[in-house]
Amino acid sequence: MVAPGMAQFGTWQLKSRGRLFYNWPPDACEEALRFTSAGQLGGEPYDVVIVGAGVVGCGLAYRLSMYDLRVLLVDRLHDVGEGTSKANSALIHSGYDAKPGSLESELLHEAEADWPGLAARLKIPLDPVGGIMMAVTDEQERQLEANEKNAHANRVADVRILSADEIREREPNASSSVRGGLLVPGESLADPFMASIAFAEIALANGVDILLGAEIAGVELGQARHHLVTADGHRLPARRIVNAAGLGSRRLADGYGGGAFDINPRRGQFLLFDKSARPLVQHILLPVPTAHTKGVLVSPTIFGNLLAGPTAEDLPLDDPAATHTTVDGIRRVLEGGSRLVDGLARQPIIATYAGARCACSQGSYVIQYNDGAPGVVTLTGVRSTGLTTSISLARHLVDGMQKELGLELSPDTDALDARPESAWPGWWRRPFENGATDARADHGCAVCFCEFISEGEIRDALDSPLRPRTMDALKRRTRALTGRCQGFDCQVSLAEIVSGHTGIGIAQLTKNGPGSELVASGQAEVPA
Ligand SMILES: Cc1cc2nc3c(=O)[nH]c(=O)nc-3n(C[C@H](O)[C@H](O)[C@H](O)COP(=O)(O)OP(=O)(O)OC[C@H]3O[C@@H](n4cnc5c(N)ncnc54)[C@H](O)[C@@H]3O)c2cc1C
Repeated sequence: MVAPGMAQFGTWQLKSRGRLFYNWPPDACEEALRFTSAGQLGGEPYDVVIVGAGVVGCGLAYRLSMYDLRVLLVDRLHDVGEGTSKANSALIHSGYDAKPGSLESELLHEAEADWPGLAARLKIPLDPVGGIMMAVTDEQERQLEANEKNAHANRVADVRILSADEIREREPNASSSVRGGLLVPGESLADPFMASIAFAEIALANGVDILLGAEIAGVELGQARHHLVTADGHRLPARRIVNAAGLGSRRLADGYGGGAFDINPRRGQFLLFDKSARPLVQHILLPVPTAHTKGVLVSPTIFGNLLAGPTAEDLPLDDPAATHTTVDGIRRVLEGGSRLVDGLARQPIIATYAGARCACSQGSYVIQYNDGAPGVVTLTGVRSTGLTTSISLARHLVDGMQKELGLELSPDTDALDARPESAWPGWWRRPFENGATDARADHGCAVCFCEFISEGEIRDALDSPLRPRTMDALKRRTRALTGRCQGFDCQVSLAEIVSGHTGIGIAQLTKNGPGSELVASGQAEVPA
C-alpha cells in the first residue's frame, strides 16, 4: 500500500498537503486516518471551516484552496458528496427555465460557460447530449412559446421550438401524443459523484483538511474565534464558518442564532433502468414544467443507463423517510416517464433511489453574511441546481466573503487546478484501453462482472487521495456494485479485497459508515 498522503496511479503521484481524517471508532480504518483529537488539526484556528461536504461545500473548498488560507471541510457523513449531492438527476443545466434576473439564473449562466473547462481539468465526465422539452397536451403546446421566451430572457439563445415531426426524427420512441417541443442544446449529463470527489481531491492536494464522520452539534461564538463542537465533544476552532449543511442548515444555524428561514426536504424519487434500455432515448427528455416542479424527465445517464424521475413531494424537516422510495412514487415516475417515451414501462429497472432537495420558503440560494455573529455565513435553499452551480456559486461566495467578512485572498502559487491526465482517473479510463502502459496484472482480474471492474481498479481507488473506506464510497469511484446485480455477485469478493488491501477486518467494513457494517457481529468468519 502507498504511504498516507501520497497516492500513486500509474505514473502520477499526488502529494496531499491537507490531511484527511475519519472520526471513526478503533479498527474501523487505518490508525493514520483516524480522528481522535482536535490536536491532530493543529492548535491554530482555521481561516474558514466549511460545514457540509456536499458538492457545494466541496466546490467552495476547491475554490478557497487556490488561496493561502487554512481551511477545514467537515461532514457528518463518511464520504464527500454523500447527502443530496449523490441522489439527483445529474444534469448540468443551461438555465433556460430559471427565473430571469434571479441569482440562480446568473449562477447558471456563469456555470454553463465554466463546465466544459472545469470537467476537462478536473476529469469530471460530461456529455453535452442536449435536451428536448416535450409538450404532450394542447395546453402544454400553448406554453412552449412562453418557455422559449423565458429561455432567451435567461440568455440561453439557442433554445428553439420543434414540431412533433422534428421531435420524432430525433427521438423515434417519443410518445405518440407529442404535439411539439423545445430544443435545449445546452443541457448536459455529468458524473454527479465525481464532481464532489474531484473538487475535494484538489482541495486536499492544496492543503485543505477534511474531516468526515463528524457531526457539528453546536457552535460556541467568540470574539476573534468561534468553536464548532462535534456531537462527540471535539472543539474545532474557526475564524469564519460557512454553513453549507443543506438540509442540516436550519439546525446548524440555530446553534449560532442565524436569521429566520424555513427549509423542508422535497423528495425526488427515481428509477434506474438497465443499460439495455439506453438506446430508447437520444436526448434528455423533459416535460413542460409546472410552477411547483420541473417534472418527471427521462434521460440517459453518463454511465450508459436510462433514468426516469424525479417526483416532487414536500415532507417535514427531519422526516426519516425523506430519501425512501415508495410504491406510489415508483408508479408516478413510471406514469410520468411513459407520457414522454413509448415502451418505457417494459424496460428492466435495476435500482430505485430518492434524493431530498433543500426547499426553502424564503427562495433559492439564500445567502446571509455575518449571520448571528461576525464571520458566519449561512447558505441554504440550494434546491434544484446545485450540482451545476457548484462552481459559480463557490466564486460568488468567495467574492462575498472577501467583501462582507474581510477575507484576505492571497493566491497560493503552488496550488493545483487540475487532476493530471496520467492519474488513474476513474471508471471512464480503463487500464486495458487506449494503449495504457500503466496496467498491472491485477487490472486483468475482473471482480465486478456487470460493470467489468478489475481488482486493480478497486485497489487504485482505495489508494486515491480521499482514501474511500466504505463500500458506497468505493462504488461511486469505480462503478463496482452499480450494475444490474447491484452487488449480489461481487460484494463478498470486494469486501475481501478491501480488507486485504487496507487491513480493516471484514467485520468492521461498512456500507456507508459505522452502524452499517456489512456483516452482523459474530458472522464475520466464513465457514470453511
Ligand atoms: C431529486 C433531485 C434532482 C436534482 N437534479 C439536479 C440536476 O439535475 N442538476 C443539478 O445541478 N442539481 C440537481 N439537484 C440539486 C442538487 O443535487 C443540490 O442542489 C446539491 O446537491 C446541493 O448540494 P449541497 O452541498 O448544498 O447539499 P448536500 O449534498 O446535502 O450537502 C450537505 C452536507 O451537509 C452535511 N451536514 C448537514 N448537517 C451537518 C452537521 N450538523 N454537521 C456536519 N455535516 C452536516 C450533510 O451530511 C451533507 O453531506 C437535484 C436535487 C434533487 C434532490
